[in-house]
Amino acid sequence: IVHPASEVRRTFLEFFGKRGHEICASGPLIPAGDPTLMFTNAGMVPFKDVFTGKDTRPYKRATSSQKCIRISGKHNDLENVGVTARHHTFFEMLGNFSFGDYFKEEAIAYAWDLLTNVYGLPKDRLVVSVFGGEEGIAADDEARAIWRKVTGFSDERIFGLGMKDNFWQMGDVGPCGPCSEIHYYLGDEPDLGRFNEEPNEQGHGWMEIWNLVFMQFERRIEDGSPILEKLPAPCVDTGMGLERISSVLQGKFSNYDSDLMRALVEKAAQISGKVYRATQADDDISMRVIADHARTAAFLIAEGVSPNRAGREYVLRRVMRRAIRHGHRLGIERPFLHEVALEVARLMGEQYPELRQRKELIADVTEQEEIRFRETLDRGLRILDEEIAGLRGAGKNELAGTTAFKLYDTFGFPLDLTEVIASERGIAVDNAGYERALAEQRARSEGSKVGDVAVESVWREAIGAVGGAVRFTGYESEEGEGKIV
Ligand code: ATP
Ligand code: MG
Ligand code: MG
Ligand code: MG
Repeated sequence: IVHPASEVRRTFLEFFGKRGHEICASGPLIPAGDPTLMFTNAGMVPFKDVFTGKDTRPYKRATSSQKCIRISGKHNDLENVGVTARHHTFFEMLGNFSFGDYFKEEAIAYAWDLLTNVYGLPKDRLVVSVFGGEEGIAADDEARAIWRKVTGFSDERIFGLGMKDNFWQMGDVGPCGPCSEIHYYLGDEPDLGRFNEEPNEQGHGWMEIWNLVFMQFERRIEDGSPILEKLPAPCVDTGMGLERISSVLQGKFSNYDSDLMRALVEKAAQISGKVYRATQADDDISMRVIADHARTAAFLIAEGVSPNRAGREYVLRRVMRRAIRHGHRLGIERPFLHEVALEVARLMGEQYPELRQRKELIADVTEQEEIRFRETLDRGLRILDEEIAGLRGAGKNELAGTTAFKLYDTFGFPLDLTEVIASERGIAVDNAGYERALAEQRARSEGSKVGDVAVESVWREAIGAVGGAVRFTGYESEEGEGKIV
């Protein structure tokens, strides 16, 4: 294979290592001493306090390949997984960081040198974006001028975008600044006119590969209104998805075809007795979801998380059960997820020894959860069938919201599953009643949450490391997950 991911990762770290950056091992997925964030969701998370000055390090430049999970809070890519070719719940973020040392000039020159000279990406397949100005904050003309000089691009290849895409902030107050992103064209003819289109499975469109964040302001609230003040020592924080750059270098349109993921997809295909990319798009999505979720589960279990009813543990349970449901959908009738999780340990155990060390634990926890969930599924199905028979007997055709809620709450039966099964039998579900029952249960548990807050602060709304509120989302309804049985 050309450019295996392990080599892409090493090349990145060595490139920045040679340029004075301390090569740091990935920090944990469960942020150390940071109860405000459910999971590490960017490379800068372990360095958060260094950027704000609360913590210091013996170096001013660092580089890492950081384990990330984006499944909660502001960055939640769960619904994208399996559907887009470039989003995962678990991924690795390559990054270089300057703590008040170099700024835009070097950051841009390094990124361009690495992409075009070291990785050898063709320039005509690349475009960049800069902050184009919004909400009274000036456009980043400085970055635009540097990009022009470094790349030789004219302005038509340097897109000016708004706050949403090209301005980063840690929270409502705190460090913030414009960013620049580098996009790569997938497909035959790079087409600038299609910049706003989502890349698709057929391999068209521009895919974001690298984000360079220039932390140069501090946002404060003065007399009730926000002001931006220049930071005395501006910082750089960059992030590039390893799966994305690897698939680009391997000439693949989809991250799931790269050497990091393809074997996992194949494992799911093999267990189900189906062929990936045969005919059924739905089946392919299920296989990709299984590949993705198996990675997330393996890495979380390796860090000591076990599936349970609250907080991070509930997120793990939800991810595993989601993968199992997709397996069920593919027609897999026995516990299987542990086999895919073991494949994760085999594929990634060299880079992440914790996977090897905890291989048995990963397999065990995964298999036990699946056995439990399959029992639950069976029991729930029986209850649902009885309820439906009762309704029929009474000449009714709507399942009570309280029953749907009980199935969810007691048997872990998601509403969408209940709906699909009920509709197959000509029965509707009282959604409004379900929502009411859910809201009532939430209100009840709010009252009893006080104790949990002290222990497990992920419950409360708080400022996340990468901006925005991070909040426990485990019990939110699973609507939008797609109808999968
Ligand atoms: P996108 O717009 O594609 O969702 P993003 O703007 O949310 O990406 P950033 O927060 O800028 O992503 O993160 C930096 C880099 O990390 C991205 O440029 C991309 O290469 C990678 N990345 C982000 N989210 C994911 C994900 N869910 N799966 C894989 N890689 C990701
Ligand atoms: Mg995103
Ligand atoms: Mg983006
Ligand atoms: Mg981005």
